[in-house]
Amino acid sequence: MKNKKEKVPFRQAVKNNIFILNLAFKSDRLMVIMRLVMGFFTGLNHGASLFFTKEILNSLDMGRSVEHIMVLILLMGLYTLVYELFFAWYYKLLNPTHKLNFIRLIHKSFFVKASDIDLACYDTPEFYNDFIYSMQNCDKSIVNTIDQLGDLVRSLIASGSVFAVVLTVDPVIAVVILGVSVLDMIIRLIQNGVYYKYNIETNEIWRKTWYVEKFFSLADYAKEIRLTDVSKNVINEYDKAIEQQKRAAISMNIKARILTIAATLLNTALTLFILIFMAKGLFEGSVLIGGFTVAITASWKLKGLVYDIQSKFVEMGKDSLFADKVRRFMETETQIKSGERELLEVESLEFKNVYFAYDDKYVLENVSFYIKKGERIAFVGYNGAGKTTTTKLIMRLYDVSKGQILINGIDIKEYKLESLREKIGAVFQDYKVFAASVAENVLGDVYTEDKENVVLSALEDSTFGQRLSQLKEGIHTELTREFYDNGTNLSGGENQKIAIARVFAHDNQMLIMDEPSSALDPIAEYNLNVGIDKNARDKTVIFITHRLSTTRHVNRIYMFENGTIIESGSHDQLIQKGGKYAEMFELQAEKYRAKKES
Ligand code: ADP
Repeated sequence: MKNKKEKVPFRQAVKNNIFILNLAFKSDRLMVIMRLVMGFFTGLNHGASLFFTKEILNSLDMGRSVEHIMVLILLMGLYTLVYELFFAWYYKLLNPTHKLNFIRLIHKSFFVKASDIDLACYDTPEFYNDFIYSMQNCDKSIVNTIDQLGDLVRSLIASGSVFAVVLTVDPVIAVVILGVSVLDMIIRLIQNGVYYKYNIETNEIWRKTWYVEKFFSLADYAKEIRLTDVSKNVINEYDKAIEQQKRAAISMNIKARILTIAATLLNTALTLFILIFMAKGLFEGSVLIGGFTVAITASWKLKGLVYDIQSKFVEMGKDSLFADKVRRFMETETQIKSGERELLEVESLEFKNVYFAYDDKYVLENVSFYIKKGERIAFVGYNGAGKTTTTKLIMRLYDVSKGQILINGIDIKEYKLESLREKIGAVFQDYKVFAASVAENVLGDVYTEDKENVVLSALEDSTFGQRLSQLKEGIHTELTREFYDNGTNLSGGENQKIAIARVFAHDNQMLIMDEPSSALDPIAEYNLNVGIDKNARDKTVIFITHRLSTTRHVNRIYMFENGTIIESGSHDQLIQKGGKYAEMFELQAEKYRAKKES
């Protein structure tokens, strides 16, 4: 199978590079400007050194005064000194710290973007790949793009300044040198193409010969080699591969040599032309020795510089593959837009004929319910029924596909996102503990001493109190070993308690608890229920649970199946009804009885 290479069209490549430049410019204007200024001066240096050489030699040729020549030499020395000092200051002092600072800023802008994008983006593999790639490579690659651009400026200015100096010697010579430099560049490009083609062809051959070497050296094949004639075939293939390689190498060498000869002839012709043309000028007195020297030097310099320009374009084209990913990531628009209204109190929550699809298939269909402030609700149902998705819609982690969600009778899209989300405390099924202290994990914020009681009380109610007393540094204990080697790793149940404490520590009005006791033992579960009662006295609580110890005590149960609510009512009502809930309850009770009897 042929390797499909990712390619970005030229116009897109230019756009991508401009995008990166703009991104870099917004992050650290000075760093970008300085890099380009540096490119300009290093470029100019090529022309300047030629210019001084020409002037000094010409002055000698014309028999100018020693003073005049000394002034020129001093000027040249001064220029070189200033240039070298500037160069050293930039590359040794300014640039390294600038780059570090720049990388930090770029990373931060990526973090901000990553916290802002829709959760739905994580469900799209293509986006997710770009996101991970951008995150991991943004610093190196953006710096690289800026460096390439700086180098391009250098090569352009260098070529321009060298060309300008030769123009002052003789315009015809200047144009001829430039023309030959472009031809030389074209020859080199063709030659690169020949080498590239050879590499592609021989890759396949290398694979074959590598297989043959493996075949004869690995024990796995030893038995078959001895029992069958298969090795004849393999040796046959090997011979063919070597023949193929010979042919490819001969063809490549012939083409490459022809091109080298063409380049040598071209350059020799150029040198001869310059020598003859300039020597004639020297004799006739229209050219001085400085001009003669500059023309010869420039003929060599300009070739390299013109080639540099094209190779910078090639590099920038390659970089633009990366830039394309970053641009796609940074330009991803959030679909979940904040409303304008402030949400002060959650008096009621209503789902009105809500439909939702992650991709093209509805996972929620026509879901409707009404919950009043202070009610305890349980969502029950088998895995995949749509319970967690329903709670994600309440928090606007996703928006409904059809229908409406209302809080206090108003569409939740009208509320400010921040004010909606801060009213809701959620313990997710896949709760996360962060690389931070216990206190910071509970607060979800920076710890200050005045918050100590809030943290302690939340941890006590989430039944973490006993474990906390074993931690030497108490609420200042660092969790996980991501940042600190001596950080503490908690068990699954203990992490869940921290996640629950996080909800208790905040002044929210609605709690969503997705299997809050899934990792807890029965005693901790009992104590947690006491803790929830204490913390959620006037709050609306939605439990997603399979535990009947919880569903027995809630105001209302919604039984989900295949994305719809099939039953609702209190535990007693649903048991009496004898439907799916009763069936599930009976199954669980049976399991419990069987466990007790065994
Ligand atoms: P429950 O909480 O009842 O177990 P969920 O709400 O988690 O169910 O899932 C409902 C359906 O949505 C399931 O079929 C699940 O596979 C699907 N689903 C959940 N999350 C995603 C997602 N991010 N992308 C695509 N499908 C998803």
